[in-house]
Amino acid sequence: MLVDTHCHIHDKQFFAGPTDEILAHMHENGVEKCITIGTDPEDSANACKYANEHSEVWWTFGYHPNDYNGGKAKLEADLAASKSLLDDKRLVAIGEIGLDYHFDGYNKEFQCYLLENMLQIAQDHQLPVSFHIREAFDDFWPIYDNFRLPTSVLHSYSDSKKNLKIGLEKGLYFGVNGLSTFADVAHPPLERILFETDAPFLTPKPFRGTINKPGYVKNIAEWAAGYYQQDFEAVSKITTENAAKIFKI
Ligand SMILES: [Zn+2]
Repeated sequence: MLVDTHCHIHDKQFFAGPTDEILAHMHENGVEKCITIGTDPEDSANACKYANEHSEVWWTFGYHPNDYNGGKAKLEADLAASKSLLDDKRLVAIGEIGLDYHFDGYNKEFQCYLLENMLQIAQDHQLPVSFHIREAFDDFWPIYDNFRLPTSVLHSYSDSKKNLKIGLEKGLYFGVNGLSTFADVAHPPLERILFETDAPFLTPKPFRGTINKPGYVKNIAEWAAGYYQQDFEAVSKITTENAAKIFKI
């Protein structure tokens, strides 16, 4: 059995229309569970609704650093309005949250403020975090160190070997996705990885150029079996156990 620990299948912007076929494809490929990821207030509410309508789907609550920049007063109002969502039974993590300095015009101060607010929620509710950190690890580590979180995940890790080592020392796990099948990225040890697709993005080989979907976790697992020199069953077992341990699914 495999798990997709990070996708956006509830998001109508990418998956318009019924998703029955995508879920059927997921099961046909041995992917029995997925976690759909919130990126702003409305999107998190949609993720919650979708997870509650599909028994194989769980969800996360989060405001993505690139998708949310409403300012401090709006953040306070949005969090107050979303409070009841945090009691939902199918909520398994806070995310995706973090820092992203890749695109011009980012607001460093607000991104850090947003991240701190989100981490306070994760700590208060003792929920793990799905982190999105891009070109921002120097600012991220001191903020991360200020909180006491359950074991959490650096989603779509593609940074340096140095930050990989720091993350391992801090007990973090790493989300491995289609990037590994076509890009030159640092590879964490097998015992510290989880599989994810980030669907609709980052489609793995050999499906580059098409929309990504959770069933393609199978192709990521096949890549991992080759890279880590283990059989398919072994990489499936280790990563699925990691997902179960962290997200309690
Ligand atoms: Zn994502």
